[in-house]
Amino acid sequence: MRDVVGFVCMICGAMHPPDFDGYVCPDHGNEGILDVRYDYEAIAARFTKDDLAQNPDRTMWRYRPLLPIDDGSNVPPLTVGGTPMYDAPRLAEAHGVGRVWVKDEGRQPTASLKDRASAMAVVKADERGAEVVTTASTGNAAAALSGICASVGRPNVIFVPATAPEAKVAQLLSFGSTVALVDGTYDQAFELCLEAADEYGWFNRNTGFNPFMTEGKKTVGLEILEDLGWSPPDAIFVSVGDGSIIGGVHKAMKDAVGLGWIDRMPRIYGIQSSGSDYLVQAFEDGEDVVTKAPISASTIADSISADLPRDRIKAMAAVTETGGAYLRVSDERILAAIPTLARGSGVFAEPAAAAAYAGLASAVDRGLVSTGDEVVLIATGSGLKDVPSAMQAVMRTGPEPMRVAPDIESLKSALSHRKDERP
Ligand SMILES: *Cc1c(COP(=O)(O)O)cnc(C)c1O
Ligand SMILES: [Zn+2]
Repeated sequence: MRDVVGFVCMICGAMHPPDFDGYVCPDHGNEGILDVRYDYEAIAARFTKDDLAQNPDRTMWRYRPLLPIDDGSNVPPLTVGGTPMYDAPRLAEAHGVGRVWVKDEGRQPTASLKDRASAMAVVKADERGAEVVTTASTGNAAAALSGICASVGRPNVIFVPATAPEAKVAQLLSFGSTVALVDGTYDQAFELCLEAADEYGWFNRNTGFNPFMTEGKKTVGLEILEDLGWSPPDAIFVSVGDGSIIGGVHKAMKDAVGLGWIDRMPRIYGIQSSGSDYLVQAFEDGEDVVTKAPISASTIADSISADLPRDRIKAMAAVTETGGAYLRVSDERILAAIPTLARGSGVFAEPAAAAAYAGLASAVDRGLVSTGDEVVLIATGSGLKDVPSAMQAVMRTGPEPMRVAPDIESLKSALSHRKDERP
């Protein structure tokens, strides 16, 4: 925390000192999300792009001088960060844009981007001497916290809606978390978790509440910039539920500008499902997200289903301050994007992650992205997280699998019936 100068309330702008040990601005209750502020001059004096280039550590901790943790803190052993970013020329060609890169966050230890925040949470819990860590989650943040806690043997309590995809619940139970399946929505699980954390004194990892989560998630943005040689792309597409990832991506860009490592920001596009489009509504109608009432969210993309995006202030700023936009895509389009992204890039994404790709098509249709643009899609979570949705998508798009007896004649006959399709 050497170069942290304080925590700024996103509502009133008050600066709280570096040794502030709450989560939110005391004047604004649970809504008073804070932003960690750094002394970029001091960081730039002892941390350079060249230092990074020399550092063999490929994990998120390679950006340690830009993270709000103490010099002596231990980090968990799982390999978080360092995910691949793939050039996808066939997708670029299909959409008539200069270049498409796919950042594959499905390659994280628990198979979603949330590991970056949960690893940060476990470090901060250690620093604060907390015993138990807790979070509410639509599933991935929970699986991430659960897995990272398991790697260091730390007890944790997880609140997820009882409707969470089975793969995510299986992860929690395998990692040995104390799991509360809440008969209610994610938003209700969130409220219950806040109350329980207060009641029992647990360290609270909740998104849009704990200010350190953005700082963990921003490492995806730093990796994108570093992978591109600190030459920023024109646009970054991020799917949005609570708005914490998109806020983190924006924070990475602000850090890089603050350090003088990039000289312009990419446009950031936030993609939501039509069934969970709080931020799109606010963006289109110019509504104030501090006062806008919750909606009633429902989407197949469970990871981006939120009645009230908890990190909405940072989420809105990410788009408005970079000249991006909020766009909605239907669940139909999201499902169809799973096989299209998979076939065009080799990256298998869960619905919420495929939504970012569906958003690219929508942005091109609206003329928001032009032919020379270099675009990054963040594929936030693995397709293995939600196999039933992937099956539903491929049953619609085809091709159907062949049913064959275990002999070559049966195979030949089946193949001859699909002469239009390449084997
Ligand atoms: C959490 C999550 C998102 C959305 O992130 P927010 O910070 O809630 O906006 C998108 N995709 C996947 C796979 C996620 O797990
Ligand atoms: Zn405040």
